Amino acid sequence: MNYAVVLAGGKGQRFGNGKIAKQFVELTGVPMIVYSLRTAEKNKNIDEICVVTAETEEKNVKDWIKKYGITKVKYFARPGKERQQSVYNGLLALPAKARDTVMIMTSVCPFVSQRTINSHYEKIKEYDATITVVKATDAITFSNDGKKVNRTLQKKKLYIQQGPQVFRYGVLMLGHKMYMEDEEYSKTDVTEDSELVLNIGVECYMVMGDRFCIKVTYPEDLAIAESLHPLFLEQERKYDEQNHQ
Ligand code: C5P
Repeated sequence: MNYAVVLAGGKGQRFGNGKIAKQFVELTGVPMIVYSLRTAEKNKNIDEICVVTAETEEKNVKDWIKKYGITKVKYFARPGKERQQSVYNGLLALPAKARDTVMIMTSVCPFVSQRTINSHYEKIKEYDATITVVKATDAITFSNDGKKVNRTLQKKKLYIQQGPQVFRYGVLMLGHKMYMEDEEYSKTDVTEDSELVLNIGVECYMVMGDRFCIKVTYPEDLAIAESLHPLFLEQERKYDEQNHQ
């Protein structure tokens, strides 16, 4: 089985309006989470979906699932304080076996393409962990204190992580457990699932994403996303046409 976990447990503190979490803000009149749900619903590889969201939001999400004809959502899980804990709770809610796959999706990247997801499912046949990236176009500066430059990383070998990520269920579960059960390790700041699996010695491979698959973080990103929406629709239409979907 191929499962998807859609993360919608964040409070969207950087988004600014303070009332409604960014994953539920409307983009072209549709709640942002619905974009991720539609993408997972449409993808022929994905069998079942788990949505990680607060109890107070579950009814709204269920209403949207009905309204937008989403049929694959079978499980709900509660968010943790940090994103990693939300992923872990999502994993626990699935009746998955070690060799099943799990795709981790946020609900704030509305333009994930079918091509990207299908590339993951091709690669995961060979590897146990695959993440989406795009090539960095700017050099990246590392600063410990936010004031002084410690290192400037050259862009040639740098990639920016996007969503989604796909893992063998057993591998990702083990990565999470090793992190949580080790007193010293769990005090370190690990924010990405790819890091958790790398830290248990699992190789992780890259799938190239699309440059305009932006993550909506700040209010101005919503305006950018609105203007990119027609490009996304056109890209998906062409992909469907070429692949007879
Ligand atoms: O906070 P950030 O923008 O990195 O959130 C990425 C995704 O993870 C969002 O979809 C958000 O709702 C989700 N999240 C979560 N639980 C948290 C924090 C974030 O499900 N504790």
